[in-house]
Amino acid sequence: MIDFQLHLPNSLEDAFALLEQYGDDARLLSGGTALILQMKQRFAQPGHVIGLRRLPGLGDIGETADGGVRIGALCSQRRVETSPLVAGRLPLVAQAYRQVATPRIRSMATVGGGLAHGDPNQDPPPALIALGAAAILSSAPDGNGNNGGQRILPVEELFLDYFDTDVRPGEIITGLVIPPAPAGSGAAYLKFLPRTADDYATVSAAAVITRDADGHCREARLVLGSVGLTPIRATAAEDLLRGQPLTDATIRAAAATVPAAVDPLEDHRGSVDYKREMAQVFARRAIEQAAGSAAG
Ligand SMILES: Cc1cc2nc3c(=O)[nH]c(=O)nc-3n(C[C@H](O)[C@H](O)[C@H](O)COP(=O)(O)OP(=O)(O)OC[C@H]3O[C@@H](n4cnc5c(N)ncnc54)[C@H](O)[C@@H]3O)c2cc1C
Repeated sequence: MIDFQLHLPNSLEDAFALLEQYGDDARLLSGGTALILQMKQRFAQPGHVIGLRRLPGLGDIGETADGGVRIGALCSQRRVETSPLVAGRLPLVAQAYRQVATPRIRSMATVGGGLAHGDPNQDPPPALIALGAAAILSSAPDGNGNNGGQRILPVEELFLDYFDTDVRPGEIITGLVIPPAPAGSGAAYLKFLPRTADDYATVSAAAVITRDADGHCREARLVLGSVGLTPIRATAAEDLLRGQPLTDATIRAAAATVPAAVDPLEDHRGSVDYKREMAQVFARRAIEQAAGSAAG
C-alpha cells in the first residue's frame, strides 16, 4: 500500500476546501471498495485521501415532490436494495442494486462511489439510465461569492469513457434523483453471469416499456451494460418498438438491432461475438419481461 494522508472532513465545505488545496493529488473515498483496491494495485497513488463518511445529510433516502426518489450519495448500495420506499416506488432500482456482487460489498459500496467509479460493468447504471435518473454534483462557492453550485446531470451523460466520468475537478456527487416510473410501465433488469453469482455481468440489459390502452408500445427505453466502454442506450431498438404492437416479431426485430449498437471488449467472460449475441438475447428477454408486466 502506498503512503497517503487521510482527511475526514465534517462538512461539505471542508471537503471542497481539501479538494481545492490538494487538487490532482487528492481522491475522494466513500465505501472504498474500488479505490482501496486501485491503491493496493497502484493504479491510483493519491497523496491525500478525503473520506466522505462524516459528511452529514448524504445518507438519506426520501421521496421527491413528483413521486420519485432521492438517494443521498453516501447511502450504501445495500440500503438502496432493502429500502421499502425504493422497492415500492422503483422496484427496478432495488432489483439492480441487489445484483451487485455480495451483501458484504453492497454494505460498504455507496451510491455516489459507484456512479463516480465509471466501471461499464456495474449493475445499477443501465437501470438508472432506463428510468431517466440524474446525479447531483455539488461544488464549492466560486471566488465571486456565488453560492456553491449544483449540477443535475442525467446519469446517461455521466459516463464519458472507460472508467471516465463527467465528475469535474472540485465536484462531489452528493445524490441521485430518480423520477417516478411512467404510469403503467413495466421494467426489467437482467444480468447474465454464467461464471459465479458474485461476478460482474458478462452482459446486462435494462428495459422500461410503457403500453398504450390498445397494447401498443408508447415508450421504450433499453440500456445495455458490460458491452462497451460505457453503458449503451439501444436507441434503434427503442425506435422500432415505439408505436408498434408488442408482439414476438416486433420485439425480436428490435433486439436484432442490438449487436450493431454495442461494442464489447473481449475478456475472460467471452469473445466480442459471443457478447454481441448475448446482448441481443438478453435485450429481447428484458423487453419481453418489461412488456409483460406493463399495464395496458
Ligand atoms: C470484488 C468486487 C466485486 C464487485 N462486483 C460488482 C458487480 O457485480 N456489480 C456492480 O455493479 N458493482 C460491483 N462492485 C462494486 C463497484 O464496482 C464499486 O466497487 C463500488 O460501486 C464503488 O463504490 P464505493 O462507495 O466503494 O466507491 P469508492 O471506492 O469509495 O470510490 C470509487 C471512485 O469514486 C470516487 N468517489 C467516491 N465517492 C465519490 C463522490 N461522492 N463524488 C465523487 N467521486 C467519488 C473515488 O475517488 C473513486 O475514484 C464490486 C466490487 C468488488 C470489490
